[in-house]
Amino acid sequence: MSKEYSPATKCIHSGYHPANGEPLALPIYQSTTYSYSSPTDIGKLFDLTADGHMYSRISNPTVACVEEKIADLEGGIGALCTSSGQAASFLAIANIASAGDHILVSSKIYGGTTNLFNVTLKRFGIDCTFFDQDLRSDEIEALIQPNTKLIFGETIANPALSVFDIERIANVAHKAGIPLIVDNTFATGVLCRPIDFGADIVVLSTTKYMDGHAVQLGGCVVDSGNFDWTQNDKFPGLCTPDESYHGIVYTESFGKLSYITKMRVQLMRDFGVYPTAQAAFLLDLGMQTLDVRLDRHCKNAYTVAKFLEESGYAEYVNYAGLESNKYNELAKKYLPKGCCGVVSFCIKGGREKAERFMNSLSLFVNAVHVATVHSCVLHPASSTHRQLSDEMLVKAGIDAGLIRISVGIESIEDILADLKQALESAFGE
Ligand code: PLP
Repeated sequence: MSKEYSPATKCIHSGYHPANGEPLALPIYQSTTYSYSSPTDIGKLFDLTADGHMYSRISNPTVACVEEKIADLEGGIGALCTSSGQAASFLAIANIASAGDHILVSSKIYGGTTNLFNVTLKRFGIDCTFFDQDLRSDEIEALIQPNTKLIFGETIANPALSVFDIERIANVAHKAGIPLIVDNTFATGVLCRPIDFGADIVVLSTTKYMDGHAVQLGGCVVDSGNFDWTQNDKFPGLCTPDESYHGIVYTESFGKLSYITKMRVQLMRDFGVYPTAQAAFLLDLGMQTLDVRLDRHCKNAYTVAKFLEESGYAEYVNYAGLESNKYNELAKKYLPKGCCGVVSFCIKGGREKAERFMNSLSLFVNAVHVATVHSCVLHPASSTHRQLSDEMLVKAGIDAGLIRISVGIESIEDILADLKQALESAFGE
């Protein structure tokens, strides 16, 4: 219906289309299961020869509307919601990589995803190489091994805030016959659509801006439908029979939707990380104002970044929207509407000043969270990235004095006043 609408309109109208006399607000289908008139009908669901909801570990009508909305916003052809962003990243990889395979991952990604790939996936036999996303294309190509199944990066990295050169790295991946998966959590389809630049799969933590009010935990995987899984023999899970469905071959039965269908009917069935209808309702409610909120987040964050840069208290400020930022050219290409609300800066005087500054804030909340309407602060080296070795911290762009600020949508005057007084207090003025 709404491919031609702008993001702001899609955020409100996509996914749920009430018929005459039906509720305007998305209904919460609070049911674990669905009623059918015969075992034959149910049998068809198990054979994957009929569409329909079977059990709410695999699909649910409320969640399905939100999946359609997110797919539409991101420019994909199908989506699968998950109970967290972590679950989305895990499923996106596990859908095409198995024991003995290898994945190539930007070193500038969220610490939780680094743990997932570097520790847990390794235990399952999936090996991982972290690469510097600013390397030349031929240098990245040289890191691709015969068993490499995908490249992974974040549009705007958390917390390094570097910008991923999606189009360039998609070309590297495609030359090698593998897909590019992009975590678009910080940008969302409102600020950037990685699929438009060649990404094949998008993952999102919907816990962040998409919800925007810190009320639900969730994730989503979006399939562009553009990757040809049959072009080589690297993806047997999609191109050879699945014995758990009587030998169905996903690429033959589902064509462009094979990746996302396999993820739902096989991995979601087995891992059971589907969100509840309640969570999907809250996510949908949040998404209705996503475009408006992100506009304010971006404007406030730019003003904060400029203020910090000019304050004299910062060793450096990371915000790709700043003209002085190394990623400003990439930001102009991929993020013309703004670079989200997250800013980080390294305070002069390192860890000790960071603590004093954070203790002195009054409007800002100390929280392990970003991308909510409230302004929040966090010290990554002692929290989200605590498990990383010093060497990995440096690779992830995290210094001891680095402070991550998630600029909310409060009045910019109040935000700046709080930052100013906390900086003055940390430096004893
Ligand atoms: N991806 C990014 C970029 C994140 O920032 C996060 C969480 O902060 C995740 C994934 C994981 O999402 P969740 O916390 O919803 O599991």
